[in-house]
Amino acid sequence: TKDNTMTPNPKKMKLTEEEQDAEIPIIDNYINGVFVQPHSNEYIPVVNPATGATIAQVAVSNQQDVETAVAAAQAAFPAWKALTIKARAAIMMQFHSLVRQHAQELAALIVQENGKNITEALADVAKGNETVEYACSLPQLAAGRVLPVSSGNVVCHDRRTPLGVVVSIVPFNFPFMVPCWTLPIALVMGNTFILKPSEKVPMTMHRVAQLLQQAGVPPGVVTLLQTNQPAVIQSLIQHPAVQAVTFVGSSPIAASVATECRALHKRCTALGGAKNHLVALTDTCHIESTASDIVVSFAGCAGQRCMAASVLLLIGDKSQALLDSIVKKAAAIQPGTGPGQMGPVIDERSYQKICKYIQEATEQCGATLLLDGRTWNQEGGGHWIGPTIVLHQSSEDAMMKEEVFGPCLSVYKCASWEEAMRIENANPFGNAACVYTTNGGHAEWFLERFRASMLGCNIGIPVPREPFSFGGLYGTLSKYGDMDITGDGGMEFFSNRIKVTTRWPAVEDVPTTTTHDMAH
Ligand code: NAD
Repeated sequence: TKDNTMTPNPKKMKLTEEEQDAEIPIIDNYINGVFVQPHSNEYIPVVNPATGATIAQVAVSNQQDVETAVAAAQAAFPAWKALTIKARAAIMMQFHSLVRQHAQELAALIVQENGKNITEALADVAKGNETVEYACSLPQLAAGRVLPVSSGNVVCHDRRTPLGVVVSIVPFNFPFMVPCWTLPIALVMGNTFILKPSEKVPMTMHRVAQLLQQAGVPPGVVTLLQTNQPAVIQSLIQHPAVQAVTFVGSSPIAASVATECRALHKRCTALGGAKNHLVALTDTCHIESTASDIVVSFAGCAGQRCMAASVLLLIGDKSQALLDSIVKKAAAIQPGTGPGQMGPVIDERSYQKICKYIQEATEQCGATLLLDGRTWNQEGGGHWIGPTIVLHQSSEDAMMKEEVFGPCLSVYKCASWEEAMRIENANPFGNAACVYTTNGGHAEWFLERFRASMLGCNIGIPVPREPFSFGGLYGTLSKYGDMDITGDGGMEFFSNRIKVTTRWPAVEDVPTTTTHDMAH
């Protein structure tokens, strides 16, 4: 039910005058080109997951803020739509260049509020900016088609038009990249855009709003509405002026957002959680590079990527050698947010959830703990858990089947290719899967049978790059709604195709050209 999908409500507070004057940043809404406090004047803390310290206060918007935000986006739409696509893309080019100039500053904010290491944070910025770059090329890609369809001068053509006010609701795990999956494409296609950032990581996009303004995005074209209130987010989705919604986050909420939009006949793409399987054919894969890739895949960003490896299925005589190498490499990772280190998980709730899975698997299901990340020191504050590797006896353990969203790898040794495929196919998520082998025919056997929509061979994070779109398999817990996100899917999502059929009367008498006309 929806109640189960709600984010917990941290203690809300009204800011005193001293607090408002204090150094701590206040993350307000961004409406009509200015930062405005929420009608409630209520705020919740933003916490650095590495230290547990409060680093900002973020607004808790209510229904009145939804009205103000949508009204501003609606008012800005006609003038934004009236610009040529080239003019809108030119503004995006300015933004692209500003993001490059401010990459270090944005990455530092990401490290602070999300806990990624600095290299991962810079990658978050660079990857997000790749979608900006794609959006800059839309004038070349978004042209319509023209086709004479019958004799008698009947011609069909299509014109892309923007939808109007569109909304994106985003998760905590990529503070810049995931908002950029939609924002630049929606804008260049002529829509006005309302972002509901994650209340856990609102600082990065708050700064980005200033960069968008500096790039020349007019007031009202981009709005940031901060809140952690499910009912308020729902009223944003339901607002009659909102034409389309994208959601990225956990599966139960993705499902409820898609259902809501379906009932209201709104266009929607809702991406949910994941449980990505890797299959290593250990007799034909390169052991050392496979081990390195698997460690990066499951432990990178502390496992908090929807593309992270979660289950490793081992087949073949060299399974133990591969496993030993994975454990050795993972055990060498140090806690921290510097290059090559591993950061914390986002909050206490996430930490407890991960520990519960490890405990259940090992104490109740007979799984063997090959590497225990719970030994990492919590004393300095924050939510630290190291890379964890669990060897399961049964593929039915909860940790083998449910999304853990932490730096954990569940390993299971399979007797055959078919057994590995049965386990992967039975998993209710359908985001990503990968096979490790140097044999092309063997790889194809798996790539044809995986039940996921972003597949890799010897690459454990198989993220498609523009112009390819991103998204899980429709009909699984990873994907609800209409289209994939980013790339050409994004161009389709954020535009209508208006089909125009014309029949111009044939010219009977060609007018004679006068000397006067020729002079011009
Ligand atoms: P979450 O579902 O808790 O929150 C996502 C967003 O939804 C937040 O902005 C939150 O405020 C908002 N929200 C909360 N309740 C809502 C409601 N009832 N209606 C509408 N919106 C509501 O997710 P999270 O913890 O921030 O992110 C982690 C999850 O996101 C994981 O499950 C991960 O797999 C998933 N994820 C998926 C993808 C993908 O592409 N499939 C990408 C990134 C993250």
